[in-house]
Amino acid sequence: MKSLIIANWKCNPITLKEAKQLFGSVRKGLRNVRRAEVVICPPFVYLSNLVEFFSKDRKSQTGLKLGAQDCFWEEKGAFTGEISTVMLKNLGCEYVIIGHSERRRIFQETDEMVNKKLKAVIKTGLKPILCIGETQEQKEKGKIGAVFKRQIKSALAKIPRSKIKNSGLCIAYEPVWAIGSGSPCGIDQAMSAKLLIQKILISFLGKPVTGKISILYGGSVTSKNAKNFIGGAGMNGLLIGGASLNPQEFIKIVNTIS
Ligand code: PEP
Repeated sequence: MKSLIIANWKCNPITLKEAKQLFGSVRKGLRNVRRAEVVICPPFVYLSNLVEFFSKDRKSQTGLKLGAQDCFWEEKGAFTGEISTVMLKNLGCEYVIIGHSERRRIFQETDEMVNKKLKAVIKTGLKPILCIGETQEQKEKGKIGAVFKRQIKSALAKIPRSKIKNSGLCIAYEPVWAIGSGSPCGIDQAMSAKLLIQKILISFLGKPVTGKISILYGGSVTSKNAKNFIGGAGMNGLLIGGASLNPQEFIKIVNTIS
């Protein structure tokens, strides 16, 4: 199974020229990568420009895919400022990040909203990357298990197993305290987080469906620690924020794990 490496550019860079340069460098550097699927998630405004690279690049396709950092659950209508899953699909996106902790914390996204987004993403035929993870306080209070259970069960609520099974769903374990902090989660904790997530998924969805769900790690990943999360902790991939804005570092990460 290929490792899945997701680049979350967040609200960067601030010009189209820089976005094209960054994407171009990554594309060039990863031309020969076969053992990883790499998904670039730029800000919405750059998606249509970056799609152009894909049409030009068909013959030399590496495994590079395009994803969005968020979406809205309604298809269209009076929802000022929102971008629907259907729009993203029509544009050429394959993946969508849902429930990132920055959206939950800064934009007050609730578990219910995450559930609506997940339903829409699956219905549209995009692949969902569902982010979950505990805060420092929840970790200190020993609530990791309860947080995982709530976030997973509410996100998957009322979605038929058969739909989840074929959706390409990935769950990204992103401890909130590790994101952008320079202090990644320890390998032992990542390993036990993966087992816990799988246990919750099995109790909720059964083994066959759980077996189809990839579990990724995100939070201060660099080229120095990336390999530990794949080889050591057994994660199926990585979600990378800060380090994905430096093309050399990002290419190095992909190369070390593939
Ligand atoms: C993220 O925001 O999803 C993330 C993992 O960020 P960073 O790699 O910068 O910690």
